[in-house]
Amino acid sequence: MCYKPRAKPMEAIILEFLNGRMFLAEKDKQRLHYLVKGYEGEVMFDALTEKLHCQRYTLNDLLLDSSGSTFQIDSLMVTQEPLYLFEVKNFEGDYFYENGRFHLVYKDKEIKNPLQQLERSESLLRQFLQNLGYKLPIEAYVVFINPEFHLYQAPQNLPIIYPNQLNRFMNKVNKRPSTLNGFHKKLADQLVSMHQVKSPNDKLPPYDYAGLKKGNLCAACHSLKTSVVERKLFCDVCGHIELLDHAVLRGVEELRLLFPGMKITTVVVYDWCGMAVSMKTIRRVLMQNLRISGKTKGSFFM
Ligand SMILES: [Zn+2]
Repeated sequence: MCYKPRAKPMEAIILEFLNGRMFLAEKDKQRLHYLVKGYEGEVMFDALTEKLHCQRYTLNDLLLDSSGSTFQIDSLMVTQEPLYLFEVKNFEGDYFYENGRFHLVYKDKEIKNPLQQLERSESLLRQFLQNLGYKLPIEAYVVFINPEFHLYQAPQNLPIIYPNQLNRFMNKVNKRPSTLNGFHKKLADQLVSMHQVKSPNDKLPPYDYAGLKKGNLCAACHSLKTSVVERKLFCDVCGHIELLDHAVLRGVEELRLLFPGMKITTVVVYDWCGMAVSMKTIRRVLMQNLRISGKTKGSFFM
């Protein structure tokens, strides 16, 4: 069982909303693609660690601070010994390794070296643990999770787990004796309590309410090309069908994420849904699912 679950990055969630409702610059679209792809790879990796049966605490997606340096860990596994640190990459296609650098084969484009990233995280994690009084062996790996990934010319001794080695690696972890005690639990609890929540706002493109297209985004593909028929929302792009009540509540969640502090009223939600859902339905959904504050004209939902 996972001790700290993974959540989809808030930045990706907001960019997905914005992508449906405004024109995103190419760099923002690429960033969205990068975030979603990375997240999907991590979820694929989680499915493997969840199947392990050795005693462990799995902490996914930790953001920690070591003496002013922030570092992110995709997955950390506390076993009796060692502490496993995983940097998960969902790269696809052919790459080659040369003089400590990673390149894409066909474009001859250099990409950020994940081994350097791993080295940094490992070193900061070691300092972090030392500061807390822990001295534990760490085993750190870059995991290439995508079966369509290949790396040419890489030396054997790199701390890399390739797609076709993952099962064998997990078997090896399973076979290592691991008995956890209070010490390990304390460590896992401390790590979780020191996890930092990152605000995604500094990297987002500027947006405002008036500039965003109104309507109901599809829950599956985030397209605005949806139609309301009776009590359901139909997506004209991917065919996804959702109960209208759910769609309205999603719209409210979207408003809250995009515009924290905005007062949620029937009129606001009616406008946000592109006037495609009747005021009567919206009022009913809000009354049934949210708490109302105030009784008169200025009332809003919380
Ligand atoms: Zn759709």
